[in-house]
Formats: sequence, structure tokens, C-alpha cells
Amino acid sequence: MIRKIEHLGIAVKSLKNSNELIAKLLDRSPYKEEGVESEGVFTSFFKLGETKVELLEATNPDSAIAKFIEKRGEGIHHIALDVVNIEEELNRLESLGFDLIHKSPKPGADGKKIAFLHPKSTNGILVELCEDMEAEE
Ligand code: ZN
Repeated sequence: MIRKIEHLGIAVKSLKNSNELIAKLLDRSPYKEEGVESEGVFTSFFKLGETKVELLEATNPDSAIAKFIEKRGEGIHHIALDVVNIEEELNRLESLGFDLIHKSPKPGADGKKIAFLHPKSTNGILVELCEDMEAEE
């Protein structure tokens, strides 16, 4: 089951500069910063009511974020959906013909299990599914 938009992911060149900009825009500070080594990103998160804004800076030139910025510049990179059972949701979406980048979830930032759908099957939108890790137990 999909519950809500968990966060919007925004690709940025400099987390430091963008943290300052988005802090001014939203009138609040990020509540956490976290690296995800497997993804080659450093992230920060801002709470915004029921949802969040995630800023992502590439930590190496092979990172998906580095490639995205090279092609399209800074901006909205993905929409993350909060789901109750990520494995079940991946099976549901695959059976409907959506193209999965990750067939099974992997650890992401902010204590989540995550998996991405390929934008070619979702109208050009990179969709992330995420589920709280502690929700499993
Ligand atoms: Zn994300």
C-alpha cells in the first residue's frame, strides 16, 4: 500500500550552498545529514509537515546524481513514496509492467529500505519506494 509522498529528492551541486538556500526558503534547518556510500551521495533532509525534502550531492563522478546534473542540471531528481510493505509493492508494480531498477529493496538514507522504478516506465519520473526499516519488526 502506498501511503503518501515521503519526500522529494533534489539533486544539487553543493550541499553546503543548497542547505543554506533551502533553509532560507523553508525557514528551517535540515534535521540530518547523511552519506550513502553505495549510492555515492551525501544527503540532507528538511521536514515539511507530513513530507520531507531531501537534497543530494554526488560524492564521486560515477554517482547517479553526478550524471543527472551533468545531463539536466540541478533540480527535482525523484519522488519518494512511503509504502507499507515494499516487497509486496515491488511485486505489484512489476506485475503491472513497471520496470524496476531494484528487484529487491536495499538500505537507503534516513533509516529506510528503498527501491527505484525506471523512469522510462513512469512518464519520465524517477520513483523511489521507501519503507521504514523499523516498521518491519
Ligand atoms: Zn530519496
